[in-house]
Formats: sequence, C-alpha cells, structure tokens
Amino acid sequence: MKRLACVTIDLDGLSHYAAIHAMPEGTLPASAEDLVDRVAIDRFLELCGNQQVPGTLFAIGNDLRDHGKASLRRAVENGHEVGNHTFWHRYALWQKGLSDVATDISRGADALEAATGVRPRGFRAPGYTFTAEMYRALVEQKYAYGSSVFPAAPYYVAKAVVLALQNLVGRQSASSLDRPRVLTAPLEPYRPDPAEPYRKGDGAVVELPITVEPLTRFPFIGTFVCTLPAMVVFSIYRNIVRQPFLNLELHGADLLDESDGTGSALPQLQRDLRVPATDKLARLAEVIRRIKQDYEVVTLLKASAQVA
Ligand SMILES: [Zn+2]
Repeated sequence: MKRLACVTIDLDGLSHYAAIHAMPEGTLPASAEDLVDRVAIDRFLELCGNQQVPGTLFAIGNDLRDHGKASLRRAVENGHEVGNHTFWHRYALWQKGLSDVATDISRGADALEAATGVRPRGFRAPGYTFTAEMYRALVEQKYAYGSSVFPAAPYYVAKAVVLALQNLVGRQSASSLDRPRVLTAPLEPYRPDPAEPYRKGDGAVVELPITVEPLTRFPFIGTFVCTLPAMVVFSIYRNIVRQPFLNLELHGADLLDESDGTGSALPQLQRDLRVPATDKLARLAEVIRRIKQDYEVVTLLKASAQVA
C-alpha cells in the first residue's frame, strides 16, 4: 500500500461546544453560532489551497447556513471531499436504535447533497462514538468508508475525569464516555466486525481510524497539534510517520479565536480558542508541509478505495 495521508476537519458549530461544557442556554452570543459555517470553512479551504492538498470536510446537515453551503459547493468543485457528520450531531446517537440512527445519517446526506450536488460516501460519528447500529446503517446506505474510530488512551482518561467532575458539581454535559473497547481498536485502516465495529472483521464498509501516536496512543488531532510546543508536536510526529497511513483530524474551532466573536464564556472553558487563529494556522501549515514530504495527501474517499 502507498503511504497515504488525509487532512480532515469536523465542522461542529460552537453551540455543540457550549453543550459539551454544559454552558447554560443563551451564554453563547448569537453571532458565535455560525462562526464555523461563516469563517472556519473558508479558512480551512485557504489552508488546503495554499498547501495544495485536498481536504475532507465532515459537515452537519442542521448546522449549514447559506455561507457554509456555498463554501462546501466550492470545496467540491475544487477537488475536496464533503463527508457526512449526521444531521443533528447528537452526542447520544450511540444510545439510539437502527431506524433513528439511519434517519439521522440519511437526512444528513440529503442536506449535503442538496448543498453540494454530491451525495457523501464517507461518515464520521458525533463525539467519536461508533456503534454496530451506525455501522449497519452505513452498509445499508452503501457508504464507501467510516472514519470515527479514535483509539486515544489519554483522551479517554481525560474525558472520564472531566465528566466525573462535572457530575460532582451537578452539571450535565451533552458528551458521554465511549465503550472501553475503543482503546484496543486497530490504529490502521481495517474492515470492522459488523457486531462490534471496534474489532476487525469482514464488514463491507472500511474504517479509517483517526491517527494517534502508536506507543502512547496520544491523539494527533488539531487541538494538540495547534497548541502544544512545536518540539513536542514534531517529536510525536516522528513516531507517527512510521505508520503507513495518517488521518489528521481538525475541528472548525481550531481555526477560530475569541477575536472572531466567540464571546468570552466559551474560551474560558475551551482554552484553545484563546490561542490566536493566525498562530494555529501557521502551525497547521508547517505540519501539512511535513506530512507532504512523507506521504501522498489524498481525500479519505480516495484512501478508502486503496484499502478496499
Ligand atoms: Zn463533531
């Protein structure tokens, strides 16, 4: 297999962050609700354009506004891929039955197809939690791939602690903890077991996991790539580069900062919003330049064809 890398971004609007942090309703200014749609998508496309790499954008049907729809249409015209991040982005989707899950996925695909003219072939679950019901819906709806598995040990532990603390002080986060089995999920692309998609099997839809450092399973995602000292990021990268496939996952919020109009409450909780977007974009450009030296950068759809 050729050494392939993908640069991907989840276009979660800031209201989803407010829900994760259990912020009271109305704390997020109305002007912040569509910042990802209005500002972050274009910044991502500019980043990819400058580095001359194709990107994969996972969009949420219900979050799309006119500006974002036009940006996604332009993205597709320029060789980027738009994947499905569901219609509602419900963190509790993992608790839902097949018909509910299938509807959320197909409705998301309908919204994206209406916006871009192309039906998505790739899927990423909200909150990284991937279930047998979601997998079955992907098979039935003839998806080419999923890219939801995030086998990051430190992230799992940190999330468990944060959720426990929020519980102690009586706050109810919208987010929830994944099954521990995700920690033993494969790090490289694989065919999942339809009954337990965190395990290898013979399922029809391939899974392209989000990259973690192979020894410590430290997540190599935008939040850390953008904010940790360069020395730390590139020493983690030296271990990652030994793997034949790299799936860098960013979020819209990685390309924003408080001067974009996030209001002051969210950046108190989501500290990476206090780092200037220009600094984060410069770091991402540096990381993508390194990735381009070591890999061929393609969309997830193209990578999935090679795995399949
Ligand atoms: Zn998301």
